[in-house]
Amino acid sequence: MIEDSYRHKGMRRNLIKTLLEKGIRDKAVLEAIQKVPRHYFFDKAFLEHAYQDKAFPIGEGQTISQPYTVAVQTELLDIRPGHKVLEIGTGSGYQCCILLELKADVYTIEYNKKLYRQAKSFLNSLGYRAHFRQGDGSQGWPTFAPYDRIIVTAGAPSLPDALIHQLKPEGKLVIPVGNEEHQEMIRITKDAAGKINSESHDYFRFVPLLGKYGWKKNK
Ligand code: SAH
Repeated sequence: MIEDSYRHKGMRRNLIKTLLEKGIRDKAVLEAIQKVPRHYFFDKAFLEHAYQDKAFPIGEGQTISQPYTVAVQTELLDIRPGHKVLEIGTGSGYQCCILLELKADVYTIEYNKKLYRQAKSFLNSLGYRAHFRQGDGSQGWPTFAPYDRIIVTAGAPSLPDALIHQLKPEGKLVIPVGNEEHQEMIRITKDAAGKINSESHDYFRFVPLLGKYGWKKNK
């Protein structure tokens, strides 16, 4: 049994202080981060790393995003309760839990079969309810489109048109775009008439987005 002790909650409060110092302001986002026990997503041997502000390996060559990165992307998404949100790159499922704490209706896609299975059963065991799918999220998830919000948690070589198409009017898409070394955080907003506005934010480093509109798998 995993437990969420006072010590863990205390470590999360310190993490929240760090995020505030780094400029995260959205109270709802900080509260969601305070609620989700990030150490649940870590192997026992690595518990000490769970509340440091850094990314960490989750197996299969993938990582759980750095808390600051999760906070920035979630803040940019501007989630309202009831929003239908598509997440591309379920990974550990941590970001998905943050979206669920913000009362979003989450559709999450993971390319890697093992990570998909693990995240789905783990989140269910914690009582977090999302819609899970294994597949290529670079093409979105057309069956349930359009979405109020789309978040991509892997680095894309360019902006996939498919994702813009699956956004509702007044919808927002947050996606890191760049080369394999670093990616600029882009926020696309579709206005009520369907016109696209794009803003760039800081640079980050994500694992590559694979699939049709991602990087071609080498070898
Ligand atoms: N949101 C995750 C971070 C995952 S890292 C978390 O909170 O832990 C990025 C994930 O994107 C990896 O698990 C990787 O397998 C997945 N991924 C890469 N390309 C993908 C694609 N085309 N469709 C869906 N998932 C993809």
